[in-house]
Amino acid sequence: MKKNEYSRRKFIKQNSLAGVGAIVTPSIIFNITKDSDIPAILGGKPVRTESWPKWPRWNPETDEAQIIEVLRSGVWSRNKVVTEFEEKWAETVGAKRALAVVNGTNAIIAALVQLNIGGGDEVIVPPYTFIATIAAVLATGAMPVFVDTDPETFQIDTEKIEAKITSRTRAILPVHILGLPANMERIMQIANNHNLVVVEDACQAWLAEINYKKMGTFGDAGCFSFQNSKNLPIGEGGAIVSDNDDFIDRCYSYHNYGNPYGAMVGEVGAGTAIAGTKLRITEYQAAIGLAQLKRLESETETRNINAGYLKSQIKNIPGITPYKLYDNVTRAAYHLFPFKYNSEKFDGLPRAKFLQALNAEGVSCSKGYSTLNTMPYLNNALQSKNFQKMYPKEMLDYNLFMERNQCPVNDKLCNEEMIWLPQNVLLTEKPDMDGIAEAISKIQKNAGDIDSKI
Ligand SMILES: *Cc1c(COP(=O)(O)O)cnc(C)c1O
Repeated sequence: MKKNEYSRRKFIKQNSLAGVGAIVTPSIIFNITKDSDIPAILGGKPVRTESWPKWPRWNPETDEAQIIEVLRSGVWSRNKVVTEFEEKWAETVGAKRALAVVNGTNAIIAALVQLNIGGGDEVIVPPYTFIATIAAVLATGAMPVFVDTDPETFQIDTEKIEAKITSRTRAILPVHILGLPANMERIMQIANNHNLVVVEDACQAWLAEINYKKMGTFGDAGCFSFQNSKNLPIGEGGAIVSDNDDFIDRCYSYHNYGNPYGAMVGEVGAGTAIAGTKLRITEYQAAIGLAQLKRLESETETRNINAGYLKSQIKNIPGITPYKLYDNVTRAAYHLFPFKYNSEKFDGLPRAKFLQALNAEGVSCSKGYSTLNTMPYLNNALQSKNFQKMYPKEMLDYNLFMERNQCPVNDKLCNEEMIWLPQNVLLTEKPDMDGIAEAISKIQKNAGDIDSKI
């Protein structure tokens, strides 16, 4: 028998023996019925006490042989293991070619630069993304133009893109944020109608699909990240994929000081073809990537099964609205599991306190991104020497910029509504998902009490 149950029985027995049972209201008794009814943040038992799966995963027996071989070979700079990783990655996502680069940020920069996007151009971006998306646009000298977020899918709102297209617009940079696909069919239509380039930020969308076609293969280029926290973790790393040989040859050349490669002809040293930089990954990074790639498919499957089940278990809790997928999505990557929180349905319990209470139940969670279209780095970019030379004065006025780039739906999402669970939470089993639903439900039932006591 649990401690509280015991004390309740003793309490009832003692009080009824003393003849005072009648003045004890049932609600007082029921409030202490079970330990599991009391939120952990108010001293009850947490729904979960075990830790979530460690990330990144690593198995010395199956993962280390090739890495040790690379280390002992002394061939550490780009060579055949990087090429092997590129070939496997292209095959995995169904693209003709892949180029491995140092990280996702530079994958986006390289793709934009080699698609001839730069100073004086405008690039359509979502505000609901990781800072690197916008940083990459600014690094090329192009101007980010923010299009508000769809409140159900959390992706760029395709109905609002065309209103933001000007004579300077050269590209759309959709992000499959949280690992959920953006509405690519509509984005490609708009791009074709307005003759725009499309670079997909698929840095959270490994193996996600629309109609069985993988994200990163819809646009002119798809960019991936393999940073430590990502679903395919190498520590640092990235890739550009495309079906266009000339474009990938250009990117290859660019990532190798501009030296000749494929269609980029010339002579190393004496006849360097294009202005380049250095973005090569090492052989041991590629070996880690090959080891991680072996588990990506089965882990993605597990995340999809658990996300679908968890969604079904929480969607009827008042005040909880999980993400929506576009109808043609056949698979998501679930880098994060997102849902919206409505504090009104939680007795006014603010989101920050809900997060505290859910964490106390043993469920990892966070509020996610802040509003990227309102941060000081933008003013810093507008005031930079290059921007001052490339744009007319009215485009560099910060107040005008802020006005043009308002995203009220996104503001509400970031400031009030969004809740994330991290991807490793989804690498467990059905009962673990039930535990999360139970924790949210418990907080919902006790929201007023929690709000008044913490
Ligand atoms: C991680 C990430 C990037 C940048 O990737 P890095 O490898 O960290 O440079 C870009 N966009 C999105 C959406 C990301 O999540």
